[in-house]
Amino acid sequence: MSEPVPYLDLRAQLKPLRAEIDAAIARTLDNCSFCLGPDVAQFEKDFAVFCGAQHALGFNSGTSALHVAMRLLGVGPGDEVITTPYTFIATSWAISYCGAKPVYVDIDDATFNLDPNLIERAITPRTKAVLPVHLYGQPFDVDAVAAICRKHKLPFVEDAAQAHGAKFKGKTVGSLGDIACFSFYPAKNLGACGEGGALVTNNAALAARAKALREHGSTVRYHHDEVGYNYRLEGIQGAVLGVKLKHLGRWTRERQRVADRYAELLGDTPLKLPVVAAGNESAWHLYTVRHPRREELKKFLDANGIGNAVHYPLPLHLQKVYAPLGHQPGDFPVAEKAARECLSLPMFPELTDAQIQRVAAVVKDFFRS
Ligand SMILES: *Cc1c(COP(=O)(O)O)cnc(C)c1O
Repeated sequence: MSEPVPYLDLRAQLKPLRAEIDAAIARTLDNCSFCLGPDVAQFEKDFAVFCGAQHALGFNSGTSALHVAMRLLGVGPGDEVITTPYTFIATSWAISYCGAKPVYVDIDDATFNLDPNLIERAITPRTKAVLPVHLYGQPFDVDAVAAICRKHKLPFVEDAAQAHGAKFKGKTVGSLGDIACFSFYPAKNLGACGEGGALVTNNAALAARAKALREHGSTVRYHHDEVGYNYRLEGIQGAVLGVKLKHLGRWTRERQRVADRYAELLGDTPLKLPVVAAGNESAWHLYTVRHPRREELKKFLDANGIGNAVHYPLPLHLQKVYAPLGHQPGDFPVAEKAARECLSLPMFPELTDAQIQRVAAVVKDFFRS
């Protein structure tokens, strides 16, 4: 059998950067700047520039950044936030952590992103915000969401955890909503050597309050104005992220190369390939294809050493934790169908052409068999 192709190969990314990362970590140790500190401050400046935004704040995860984003918008018990049922659960956690209710609307079949046409009828007097996701690295329809939010005087938050550097009509995500949140979980497009996240905004007042909430709700040490958290980014992670950020543009172009090659090689198979909406540049966090025989295809890839993963097998409205919301199968049919059909193929910047060809060959074998 040919060499297996891993779903993700973090070693391949780390290897050429190892000396630089070792030096960055050593500097943090020498400084003893373990929580926030100068490397985090520098990374925050650089990441804000990368996003084309005024302020970026390091958090200890994308989930905590999202949580604080909801707090900044005053989301509390009894409130509603309109969001997508087809994402990683952390998007909804942010709402639940505030005692508010996630109000789901279905997704667009082509892009997997929240369908803006469905937002308006979900708005009630309790709606506090809209929280869509740039899923798999592809921007949601920012203009459509922004227009509805403007009309109803609602803020919106970009969950950009999968979309570092993605572009909507030429503009980098992260600066398009009232707030944007990123994850630096190791498998994300920009990953720490551990956990990390960022909250990005152009609003100085929101940034100042986010900074306080991140650090126990205090601006003056040992004086606490509101209930805060320990959500600080570690100094070591800031140092690592500073090194990696310099390579992110190149990595995104490599992901685009992989996506283009898959499109060439898989274009004549029965798979439904990812569609990038006009005007969008995906960050290609994932390369997620669709087919009704997903389970069989998955088994075939497994048996032939081709890494793969299902994002996501169960939409959020059907998760046990959200049973109290009272949803039924059929409530969001587009998301449910996507959950049955989706399969993510190997996607990372270091994927070689031989590996891509091997993936394509096995997929073609499946449809011949
Ligand atoms: C990864 C992810 C998060 C959470 O980020 P963590 O850093 O793992 O807490 C939130 N939303 C989406 C869409 C994600 O993919």
